[in-house]
This record gives sequence, C-alpha cells and structure tokens, in this order.
Amino acid sequence: MAVILDGNALAKEVKTRVKAEIDTAGISPGLAVVIVGDNVASRVYVNAKKKDCAQCGIRSEEFALPADAGEEALLALVDKLNSRPDIHGILVQLPLPAGYSEDKVIQAINPEKDVDAFHLLNVGKIMNGDYTFLPCTPAGVMEMLAHYGIEPAGKHCVVVGRSNIVGKPQAMLLLHKHATVTICHSRTPDLGAITRQADILVAAVGKIGLITADMVKPGAVVIDVAINRADDGKLYGDVDFAAVEPIASHITPVPGGVGPMTRAILMQNTLTAARKLRVTSH
Ligand code: NDP
Repeated sequence: MAVILDGNALAKEVKTRVKAEIDTAGISPGLAVVIVGDNVASRVYVNAKKKDCAQCGIRSEEFALPADAGEEALLALVDKLNSRPDIHGILVQLPLPAGYSEDKVIQAINPEKDVDAFHLLNVGKIMNGDYTFLPCTPAGVMEMLAHYGIEPAGKHCVVVGRSNIVGKPQAMLLLHKHATVTICHSRTPDLGAITRQADILVAAVGKIGLITADMVKPGAVVIDVAINRADDGKLYGDVDFAAVEPIASHITPVPGGVGPMTRAILMQNTLTAARKLRVTSH
C-alpha cells in the first residue's frame, strides 16, 4: 500500500505559514485576479484562489471581462494593474477565449508581479535556477516531495508532458535537485518502456487512465498532476489510481493532491512579490 501524498493537508500548512509571515511582516499583499469570459472551470479556479487569498490575509481583487471585451481592453487593464502600488501580483486566468493572444497578454504583465511565473523573464530564471517566482504547479510538486522526505538527487525522474506551464518547468526543477530527468510527450514511442524506469514518475498529460499499473516500477513515487473531468462529473488524473496505488511507494490522489499545492504556491508567490516590491519602492 502506497503512502498517499495529502495535498490538502500540506497546502493548509503552506497557507498557514504564508499567513503567519504576512502577519509578522505587517504587510498587505494584493492579488489581482483577471478572468475573461465564462469558462466554467476558470470560474471554479478563480473562486478557489480568492478563497485561498482570504485564508492567507491577501487582498484579492477580481476583474471580470466579458469574452468579447477584446485584447486591447485586456492589455489596458493589465497596464493599469502594473502601475497600481497596492497590487503586487497579477494573475490572468487561462485559457483566454478565442481571439486573444495569451502570449501577448502574459508578456504584458510586469515580471515582478508575474506570480504565475509565465513571463519570459521568469521562465528564463527558472532555466537558470535563480528564480524570483516558482512556477506554481511544479513547485507544489517539489514541496510535496520535500515534505514527505522524497529526495530527487540521483533518482531517475520521468515527466510525461512537456507543456510550458507544467512539464518543462517540472523537469527543470527536478534537474536542479540533481535528478536524472527524462521528458516524454505524445511522440514518445513505447511510453511504458520509459515510465517503467522511473523512480519518480510525474504524469502531466490530461488523459484519464493513461498510466496503467504495468507502466509503473514497483516502489516508484507517482505524482499525478492531471485534472480531468469525466462524463460522470468526477475528477480523475492520468494515473489509474486503483491499480497503481498497491504497487507504488507514494502516490498523489486526484483530487486532493497537486491541485491544492498549486494554489498554495500562488499564495507564497504573492507574498514574495509584496515583499520584493515593498523593498524596491522604499
Ligand atoms: P497540455 O495539453 O499543454 O500538455 C499536455 C502534454 O501531454 C503535451 O506535452 C503532450 O505532448 C503530452 N501528451 C499528450 N498525449 C500524450 C500521450 N498519449 N503520451 C504522452 N504524452 C502525451 O497540458 P498541461 O500541461 O497544461 O496540463 C496537463 C494536465 O495537468 C491537464 O490535465 C491539466 O488539467 C492539469 N493541470 C493541473 C494543474 C494542477 O494544479 N494540478 C495545473 C495545470 C495543469 P505534445 O507536446 O507532444 O503535444
């Protein structure tokens, strides 16, 4: 039986730590949450992030634009938020509706307020291992590994998925912790042959049941980043949890694994932004 990596409990710890630091420092971090259109999943995520802010003592301000507001209006809003001294973090909830360039909008955010760490400057820093902001999901995974005493150094870590927001930065953070890292993607032939070599397997694809028990080495640590809503309305990861859990040493559940950790790191990043901007504005 695997140890279940409890993201809900650990995220609570991280948020408690953030709140304590905010109280001690006597600062008032502000996070602007921008949502465009009426994507149901985006609304759920935005509401959850606002709740996290309230728990941490972070002021959150929501800016909701209709889907047809247009890129110019969104860029003007980002510009305004960039110059507001009481806003330390800016989060534009993705995906944006058709007709918006996500890249253009992300690059318009002041890198010092880019709490998602998606701006090219912050992406470059992640490559160098000299980060201002940690990429939320991969950093959440690293926090979990550290908390449960799982040491990546010298291990073979296999990351399935190579997106800019999860797979690539995840591989980089593991590499910086001295793991040997393999990245797999949709063009990887015989995925199982690679995943079976993993001491730590991170699945970040978005396909229910992609990782079956025969693809996992007995005793491996299995991290399931994916959040997939099935036809039954329930959330599932990429990993066949029921079949893999008996052979893994550690495994994350979905929901209640990486998801809450992602949001906790966002709170941590907002605190970091507020601290840094306070220093530079004095
Ligand atoms: P993307 O769709 O951007 O990337 C998916 C990746 O999976 C791509 O690199 C793709 O390869 C690869 N892939 C697709 N099919 C296969 C396959 N059959 N075998 C191997 N690799 C495959 O997704 P994201 O990275 O944004 O998200 C991944 C998952 O994580 C989603 O379920 C998402 O909802 C979830 N997520 C969860 C978060 C959390 O907080 N827990 C935060 C962010 C995302 P290729 O590049 O070749 O197309």
